[in-house]
Amino acid sequence: MSRTVNCIIPPHLLDKLLESDDSDVRQAALDTMLTTTRLRGERSVRAAIAGAAALGNSRRTIFDCQQGRFLPLAVLVRSEEGAASGDKSVNRAFDGLGVTSDFYQKVFQRNSLDGMGMRLDGYVHFDRSYNNAFWDGRQMVFGDGDGRTFTDFTGSLDVIAHELAHGVTEFTAGLAYHHQPGALNESMSDVFGSLVKQWSAGQTAETADWLIGAEVFTPGIEADALRSLKAPGTAYDNALFGKDPQPDHMSGYVNLPNTERGDNGGVHVNSGIPNKAFYLTAVRIGGFAWQAPGLIWYESLKASSIETQFQDFADTTYQQAETLFGADSAEQLAVLAAWQEVGIQISGVPVGLARARSRAADRNGGGGREDGLAALSQQIGALTTEVRQLADDVAALKATR
Ligand SMILES: [Zn+2]
Repeated sequence: MSRTVNCIIPPHLLDKLLESDDSDVRQAALDTMLTTTRLRGERSVRAAIAGAAALGNSRRTIFDCQQGRFLPLAVLVRSEEGAASGDKSVNRAFDGLGVTSDFYQKVFQRNSLDGMGMRLDGYVHFDRSYNNAFWDGRQMVFGDGDGRTFTDFTGSLDVIAHELAHGVTEFTAGLAYHHQPGALNESMSDVFGSLVKQWSAGQTAETADWLIGAEVFTPGIEADALRSLKAPGTAYDNALFGKDPQPDHMSGYVNLPNTERGDNGGVHVNSGIPNKAFYLTAVRIGGFAWQAPGLIWYESLKASSIETQFQDFADTTYQQAETLFGADSAEQLAVLAAWQEVGIQISGVPVGLARARSRAADRNGGGGREDGLAALSQQIGALTTEVRQLADDVAALKATR
């Protein structure tokens, strides 16, 4: 069985670089593709070390590959007890892993990626001119970029959080990495990747940039980011990379083969559709997107399974919104309207009724009894989290005495 290697840079971007006039750019892209293919071909050793990976109390360890490709030869450079390193990549990886695991703990009371305190191992300076970063089911690995097109991948918090979210998906729904389940898998990583950044910066749905990987290009490259949840298809458009191919509606769904070159059926392409649905849900509900919208998505991810399709996931978010916030709550109506806007009709809700409801939701716009109740339940939720946090802090304080 080949190994799952979830990369941040999709194959169509590297493909495009092979057409560059610059031979260094072509060479780095080719090397990156070959190394990734080789990694996929290696047999996973995870089963043998699964025991070691668990029960780590989400402790972080950073290793320096010193531009090598064989992870067991990497040198340990920073651990939970150790001082900061003189190497910025090491510290950024360490901090990024920390912010991400804090996010899951504080927002969803989830203990690390597996919910059981899984250790977090990061590898920096992987390979030479490696234009990618990936999660291989056990550890997070960062390339330095070739310096011509891409730069050090530790520089982007949402890229780190995107990769780690693949771990959360693997331990919950286990969404298969092809076609629609694969695009949902990618979308979950973009959604939670962006939420980690928004949470750490204290941004609301309205003030966030909703970009993934705004920092991975070298300064000379004209591109906003790798992807945009707010406006899929607009993250970049230049001679080097071509145009962002993401659709933001089912009418633009792209059928690609389930091969590495075909991006496993367009997992990084069609993810634009559920990405946009999350963004629309978040701006309709308003405020901090990791609260009600994030919770609905997180609970829906936990309620999904290996072959979940877009329609199934949309229906699940609608049900979860009802369970969490009530039937016809502002949250549920926001979910309904968002999926409708990307061309997915929630099962069992007639089109006309859905339109009327979403119009009603727009008219209410924050007023109304339902909205008041939803706001109250959200406040209670936030308060509960605070109380739980306080209890944790007290327990931690007692333990140190
Ligand atoms: Zn990914």
